[in-house]
Amino acid sequence: MIKVKKRKILLLPGDGIGPEVIGEVKKIINWFNNKKSLDFEIDEDLVGGSSYDKHGTPITDEVFYKALESAVIMLGAVGGPKWDNIEFSKKPERALLKLRKELKLFANLRPAICFKQLVDASTLKPEIVSGLDIMIVRELTGGIYFGEPRGIKPIENGERKGINTHTYTSSEIIRVAKIAFELAKKRSNKVTSCEKSNVMEAGQLWREEVQTLHDKEYKDVELSHMLADNCSMQLLRNPKQFDVIVTDNLFGDMLSDQASMLTGSLGLLPSASLGAKNKDGEMRAMYEPIHGSAPDIAGKGIANPIASILSFAMALRYSLDLDKEAEALEKAVQDVLNDGFRTKDILSDGMKEVSTSQMGDALISKLQ
Ligand code: NAD
Repeated sequence: MIKVKKRKILLLPGDGIGPEVIGEVKKIINWFNNKKSLDFEIDEDLVGGSSYDKHGTPITDEVFYKALESAVIMLGAVGGPKWDNIEFSKKPERALLKLRKELKLFANLRPAICFKQLVDASTLKPEIVSGLDIMIVRELTGGIYFGEPRGIKPIENGERKGINTHTYTSSEIIRVAKIAFELAKKRSNKVTSCEKSNVMEAGQLWREEVQTLHDKEYKDVELSHMLADNCSMQLLRNPKQFDVIVTDNLFGDMLSDQASMLTGSLGLLPSASLGAKNKDGEMRAMYEPIHGSAPDIAGKGIANPIASILSFAMALRYSLDLDKEAEALEKAVQDVLNDGFRTKDILSDGMKEVSTSQMGDALISKLQ
């Protein structure tokens, strides 16, 4: 079994704007190493289309091995039109799925935060989203995207049948629910668990297991259950009623995308995918911005690096046990926005337009 190196950070910038935004994360990591005497060991390698171009595969065994021994993987983004027509198994996105699956990263954490300075970027009214701070915990390695049997098969009368299977075991539900309860304890102490227990047996099991876990271990956390379709509606009606939402792979996919758009700014939202802790307390985890490789702006130096930098703040908090440093970085982001610095995607009247690297530099000057 490959051991996780406690302070090892693997940078996988990927494609498009990935290298530009991860370049700014690298500056921040170096700043922490130099100014705060933290001993992060940084490594960097290719993934996605850039790996395919050099090695004919979206992730080499060597890079996969490096990922296995890293406490933190910081991923930029993968993909782009250049690789749209290559064979399915070699597509850039296969590298991501391999990492998530093989590293057993079962809990995907997606905060949706609406910065007060950017409240006008949302399509919803300011009073609905101002101060919004919710965390969606999506189960990432089970459910209908992985269940068997699956496939497309011919049936009678020349018709075909598409099959996917939605399954969850008790332990798969309990381990992700635990993460949600633990997170809630550090936030506003409230968990909303979402499923479709009215029409799906797997949803009924989900509800029962979450409730049983709550009653056994997390009585002090407020728990409510909500049908996923209602949750989708409530996210638009009154999103501030939520603190932590925990849900399965399929509903989490939809609800987290919906929640992220409440904030109106793709370039600002981080994410974390966490694995289980082993008996030595080691955990594998991957952190990445929620946006893609943005081929339309790649190479122009205008990408917003904040989503990647806030993903690193999540890494400081969840993988590296450096809560104070995470808070300092998050505060630096607030300060820079307060000073009116904006990359092009979030620019508004009267604000100062900055490039990707100027944004990184401004954050570092705030950290000082
Ligand atoms: P995208 O997120 O790359 O871009 C959508 C829009 O948002 C674009 O106009 C882009 O310029 C803008 N944008 C995104 N991130 C930004 C940032 N940091 N700063 C400023 N503007 C930003 O989504 P897409 O265009 O649908 O996908 C492009 C490629 O990325 C596709 O190949 C897709 O498969 C891939 N993708 C990868 C990931 C990932 O690596 N996790 C996620 C989503 C999409």
